[in-house]
Amino acid sequence: MRYSLGFILALSLAGLQFLAITTVVSTSYVSSQRAMLDHARGLMEDAGANAAEQTKRFLEPARDVTDHVSSILNNGVISTDSRQDMERYFFQVLGTTNQLSGIYYGDEVGNFVYVMKSNGPGPFRTKFINVEGDTRSVDFIWRNEDYSVVERSADPSDRFDARTRPWYIQASTLGARIWTEPYIFFTSQQPGVTVAAPVMVQDDQLHGVVGIDLDIADISLFLSDLTIGETGSAFILSDEGQVIAHPDPAQITMRNDDGTLDFADISEFNDPIVRAAFTRSTLGDTPPDSALRSQFDFDGDRYMTLLLPIPGIDLSWNIAVFASEGDFIQGIKDNRRRNIWIAAIISLVTAIIGIILAEFILRPVRAFAVRTSLVSQGEMPTSTPLPRTYQELRKANKTLINEIAQRRVSDAKVEDLNRELSHSSRVNVMGQMATGLAHELSQPLTAISQNLDTAISVAKSEEKPNDELLSILNELDEQAHQGGDVIRALRGFVRKDDGTPEAFDVKELILQTCRLMRNETDNAGVTIKTEIPDLPAAFGIRVQIAQTLINLMRNAVDAMENAQVAMRTITITVVNLGQSVEVRVDDTGPGVDADVTLFKQFQTNKADGMGLGLSISRTIVEANGGRIWHDTTASGTRFCFTVPLERR
Ligand code: ADP
Repeated sequence: MRYSLGFILALSLAGLQFLAITTVVSTSYVSSQRAMLDHARGLMEDAGANAAEQTKRFLEPARDVTDHVSSILNNGVISTDSRQDMERYFFQVLGTTNQLSGIYYGDEVGNFVYVMKSNGPGPFRTKFINVEGDTRSVDFIWRNEDYSVVERSADPSDRFDARTRPWYIQASTLGARIWTEPYIFFTSQQPGVTVAAPVMVQDDQLHGVVGIDLDIADISLFLSDLTIGETGSAFILSDEGQVIAHPDPAQITMRNDDGTLDFADISEFNDPIVRAAFTRSTLGDTPPDSALRSQFDFDGDRYMTLLLPIPGIDLSWNIAVFASEGDFIQGIKDNRRRNIWIAAIISLVTAIIGIILAEFILRPVRAFAVRTSLVSQGEMPTSTPLPRTYQELRKANKTLINEIAQRRVSDAKVEDLNRELSHSSRVNVMGQMATGLAHELSQPLTAISQNLDTAISVAKSEEKPNDELLSILNELDEQAHQGGDVIRALRGFVRKDDGTPEAFDVKELILQTCRLMRNETDNAGVTIKTEIPDLPAAFGIRVQIAQTLINLMRNAVDAMENAQVAMRTITITVVNLGQSVEVRVDDTGPGVDADVTLFKQFQTNKADGMGLGLSISRTIVEANGGRIWHDTTASGTRFCFTVPLERR
């Protein structure tokens, strides 16, 4: 299948355009994607750092309050012996710091004072455990914000002993402030941690342990305020692999078999993306001391993760952040798809416009090429107007036509010249050879002739002349004379011709020519007859007139020989017309073939003919001031030409 130049051009341009646009689109997509992902990572790190900072700030007051309360009790500013003073002091502290849910003090004897926020019957509840000897009492007091008593009750069945609790044991054993692992508060069922610090008496003896409960549910609240893409979120993961704060706080607790509440382990967390994002192995055996970045695939989407330890706290907690790449690059992905479609459509439209334009541009060019070809082949006249499309084409057309016309003329002017040149060079070479030959032959011929004359005289002077010898010698003499005649005719005929017209004897020229043609005519069985009166001198280029005569005589010989006519005669007649002589060459051949246009180049009916003889003859005759024509005769053919007579 062949495609037009315009089609290929338009298609290539459209293809290049498509390639260029998609390259630009892809390059910009890759760089935009990289920028967006960098931006997303930055956003995740900001969110993680923000969450870490918030968490730290959330925990700090509990630590400070613990230190403060333990030092107040240590210094005896508030006496550990006065439970009422302690209750009032704890009540005040609890009112000042929001995230504290309870403050308590347990001593080595088993006494216990615990002020906590309560859901009812009053907003605050105090629990007293008094131990005196073997006597143990457990009392509860509910109070309003103004410390007024709402209700009192006692619970003798309560067996709580602070000294057995982990916070007490850890702080008393360590002799310093401790943080417990996060756990779910029994009373409020909220997640929290306990900070505890030992209280000493003067001789560095442990008196008891002060503890503060910190409600950490609010950490989940501010986590839910963080925005990390559409689907990303941040949560807090303990070193134990428990989710202790999450934007959806309901998910962080789960009920154990014994009915108690506990934190959900990461591996059991209700959200499959969270489970895929981090595992216990992500945390490793030791917590990462710097940010840990990773990625994972979930449900055909790629997610980025960040695990960030919270610095500056006594707890091994980590901020875990994850976000879907799609949240950040979906827009540019959609944009790329849209751009590629736009590129394809633009390229298609370009291709169509290109084809139409190419067709529009090429149509006149094609017409021009066809027209030029037709004009050059001569099948269309040069005057045929060119469609008015392009000024340049019209100019080119004009120039080409002039060129073609000039070529034609010059090809003809060049052909003639070539012909004349080859002809005259042949004549010249022939002439030179003939002159040399004639000169060389005339000497021995003269000697032969003289010796024969002598031999004949000697033979005749014999007493009994030998007749046979005499007859042979006479024939030899005659032949020698004939040879001499031929040589003379040749020398006369080819005598140096400088190509300028001159006066010459037509009769002599014709007879010399016939003499030279004798061999050819004899071979063809043709008899030459001449009827030539004495004539005044003609004027022209002799050798050219002889050439014309030879051409006509040869054609006559060929015609009669080819037609196998029985009687073969060439008759040359010359008539004096006054201003010129008319030379007629008659033959007894079959006449001119009806198909042949005489005097036209390349018109021939001979197998080895060139069809140039007559046309050259006409050129010669006309150049010499005569004319040439053909006459039909009753039998055979007649060609006539004229040669002007010399003007006196
Ligand atoms: P060529 O001899 O090479 O064919 P010419 O121009 O001399 O070329 O002659 C052209 C043709 O004219 C010849 O082929 C022949 O058919 C015809 N013609 C010329 N002279 C004669 C003649 N005397 N008799 C018959 N036909 C002739």
